[in-house]
Amino acid sequence: MSKIVLDWSAGGVGPKSPCALCGKPTIIRSPKGTACHKVCAEEWTEARQRQANSGSSSSGRLV
Ligand SMILES: [Zn+2]
Repeated sequence: MSKIVLDWSAGGVGPKSPCALCGKPTIIRSPKGTACHKVCAEEWTEARQRQANSGSSSSGRLV
């Protein structure tokens, strides 16, 4: 299993808000400005790619 590592160089920080993926507070912002942990986004992206590979793609990108 290949580990996804997102390019977070365009990411930032902001006021503490619930992570969009796990719901725990975070100050981390994705490069698109979504409040979420980098590790959560990486796990989510990995899960999405697994879904895509299995042919059941659904909604668009979240972060
Ligand atoms: Zn999280």
